[in-house]
Amino acid sequence: MTQPAYKLQFILDERARLEKEGLLINIRTIESAQGAWIAVDGRKVLNLCSNNYLGFANHPKLKDAAQKAIAQFGVGPAAVRTIAGTTALHTELEEKLARFKGVEAVIAFQSGFNSNVATIPALVGKDDLIFSDELNHASIIDGCRLSGAPIIRFEHCNPASLEQKLRDHYPGGTPKRALVITDGVFSMDGDIGPLPALVERAERFNAMIMVDDAHGEGVLGKGGRGAVDHFHMHGRVDVEIGTMSKAFGVVGGFVAGKRVIIDHLRQKGRPFLFSSALTPADVAACSAAVDILEGSDDLVQKLWSNTRYFKERIRAAGFDIGKSETPITPVMLGEAKTAQQFSRRLFEEGVFAMAIGFPTVPLGKARIRVMISATHSEQDLDFGTEKFVKVGRELKVL
Ligand code: PMP
Repeated sequence: MTQPAYKLQFILDERARLEKEGLLINIRTIESAQGAWIAVDGRKVLNLCSNNYLGFANHPKLKDAAQKAIAQFGVGPAAVRTIAGTTALHTELEEKLARFKGVEAVIAFQSGFNSNVATIPALVGKDDLIFSDELNHASIIDGCRLSGAPIIRFEHCNPASLEQKLRDHYPGGTPKRALVITDGVFSMDGDIGPLPALVERAERFNAMIMVDDAHGEGVLGKGGRGAVDHFHMHGRVDVEIGTMSKAFGVVGGFVAGKRVIIDHLRQKGRPFLFSSALTPADVAACSAAVDILEGSDDLVQKLWSNTRYFKERIRAAGFDIGKSETPITPVMLGEAKTAQQFSRRLFEEGVFAMAIGFPTVPLGKARIRVMISATHSEQDLDFGTEKFVKVGRELKVL
């Protein structure tokens, strides 16, 4: 009898392909708390790749709040909230976030990813339609697929394309429901979704509109209140997705918006019904982050002055940073192998900045994604720019 084929060979084949194409992900080990400088794989390096926009991941007030919450409520939520009840901390965070965001209500989830996966299938099903920006985040795409609704992609940040698609597929506004979805800030390019024009189209065609503001929270708008605040669109976006893993420095997600939708998610959001809640420490730390943002916009201002400072210098050095309008600064390099080599050389020079390739970004659009933070000093950003220039010349991309 012939030997049967090795049943896991497909995994080895796929890994070999990823390696050959420069797409194999290499995860580095961090040996210190988050900050402008971190210990990685035994070295101290300038951190240019975290989403810790405001430095909250290691902020004394957040750590203190987390420790107090552990002392009072312990470490685990013990079950899903609908079965074992919820702590006062969870409810307090939701109310605080609703006030901060200027919305009717908020529901917290375990992550931003779960928030998308919960919300989209609760709003549309197979008889409905989704209109989704072609560069929307993976968790939106997965939420859309889970809903079973046909997905119609409109051109990136193009309201005229959305209008055309609405006209073609949803002309009468009934009988099916329609949901328009966009990122507030696009996580790989750092550009901002054109909310006023998208909202206007959604309203005209009687479609619901949802904004994933994972990278806008704590960054855009007054005191970091997000993309909807940035564009003064309060009350006109049905539902917003937020994360607490980026500017808020902790982990977790939330959905903010009209009370009717938030109440519906408490009944229908599957990750809410079938997955355990955030821990008391997470929730208390997130609450402390909101308190800090409500008290002062100093950190948000510092984030933006650092962003302007770095972008001016990296552009002047001759790098292409695409259409970025936010602290997310893609340094475009083209081929995935070049981007990987660039990142490796930067690391040897003391700069931690990761290469991003397909499928996270389209083929041939590999890049180093630089994330600016309020924790950086101008000297840190000068050091980073200097190393980009050095490696850029060496690899002949400058
Ligand atoms: N949406 C967007 C636009 C994101 O960038 C991310 C994080 N990569 C998420 C959702 C998921 O957030 P979380 O990490 O909290 O799951």
